[in-house]
Amino acid sequence: MMHKLKLNNSLTRKKELFKPINPNSITMYACGPTVYDDPHVGNARTLVVFDILFRVLKLIYGNNIKYVRNITDIDDKIIDISKKRKIPIEKITSEVTKIFHQDCDNLNCLKPTFEPKATDHIKEMIEMTSSLIKKKFAYEKNKHVFFSVASFKEYGKLSNKNLEELKSGSRIEVSDLKKNPMDFVLWKPSDDKDPGWDSPWGRGRPGWHLECSVMSEKYLGKNFDIHGGGLDLIFPHHENEIAQSCCNNSTERFANYWIHNGFITMNKEKMSKSSGNIVSITDAIKKYSGQVVRLALLSAHYSQPLDWNEKLLDNQSETIDKWYNVYENSEDQSPLEIAETLLDDINTPGFIAKIHELYNQAKKGDEKCKKLFNSACRLLGLFNLDKNEWNSFKKNKFNISEDFIIEKINKRLIAKKNGNYSLADKIRNELLDNGILIEDKKNETTWKYK
Ligand SMILES: [Zn+2]
Repeated sequence: MMHKLKLNNSLTRKKELFKPINPNSITMYACGPTVYDDPHVGNARTLVVFDILFRVLKLIYGNNIKYVRNITDIDDKIIDISKKRKIPIEKITSEVTKIFHQDCDNLNCLKPTFEPKATDHIKEMIEMTSSLIKKKFAYEKNKHVFFSVASFKEYGKLSNKNLEELKSGSRIEVSDLKKNPMDFVLWKPSDDKDPGWDSPWGRGRPGWHLECSVMSEKYLGKNFDIHGGGLDLIFPHHENEIAQSCCNNSTERFANYWIHNGFITMNKEKMSKSSGNIVSITDAIKKYSGQVVRLALLSAHYSQPLDWNEKLLDNQSETIDKWYNVYENSEDQSPLEIAETLLDDINTPGFIAKIHELYNQAKKGDEKCKKLFNSACRLLGLFNLDKNEWNSFKKNKFNISEDFIIEKINKRLIAKKNGNYSLADKIRNELLDNGILIEDKKNETTWKYK
């Protein structure tokens, strides 16, 4: 099929025409969550961005897409939180994974083809570590195994920095055991109380970077099409994945295209657990619905930062509300002709602007535009709630009965009749605070959800 999917490749820092290794089997890997605490809106952006890319690839290449998104269920952060809360690790990881899956469903993300867990691949991680030692890319020291970055001359290529620049620009784990401070851990020993697996270097556990090298190879092969994740993963996580895989496999390329999404900010500061300025996906969905959160996440280009605030969410909510006037869940396929904007490096804001235009034409009665509007909304993954579900969502959200609203409106009418305009305004604002917008028409007052 003819297409012109262009992607901005972080590896070459150029917008490139996407050329798959095998057009009959497209391969994509996105780094998934570390399941230690409720996922937040910053994590949701990666989910939704790669979901859109997955949908676009399906549109072009059909269903032959292998999309892998891993679950990190062994990590120091998980161990720490388990100790702090005195809850077993398995309980934490299974509960957070469940919440994560519910969030994905509510955001209307398609299921990845494979969702491997790190703890199911310890054997392969031990094998890769042994092999890297054998090939002299890694060394053992005091029950630890480190990757020797000096053994890989391409190290730093993805982040476009040399070793010295990387060293000065990042917080690196200091350890007397390392030959070079930039070396990173492949395997480390575990205390008796901590989770651990038997290995040639004693009882221990893998370093985080290793799992993605192992699992991408297992499910997608030594060289695959697309790899991605949040911008903060470029260094050291992705740089380390490349080093491990290319050295072990004697390959020049690991993934051909690297895609990184920008941060979510709040008041211009990056949303992150460590800064403490987070909104959980579940809370955002509860307040605004999954589709409104989804549209908000797609309202900026994926490579740009996106500021999370009430105005942004209210605007998306109004848009969705308006679009329900025209949207119909018909069976027409998403035609490639409307996807042009998306094919240009997943330009979602441009595509959303197109949907607004189609909406305006459809509202004037243009049937063709209406069909295209429906297809475009579906391609974006919107309208997973039907109109009734949406209306009842809004009703529940505000948790106010109709009787209450009508009573307030009547009180306000009496206040106005008596010339008590300050009371009338007070009632109007009170309703507004509860998400109810009232409008005075000729002889009556109408109301709607904000
Ligand atoms: Zn990864």
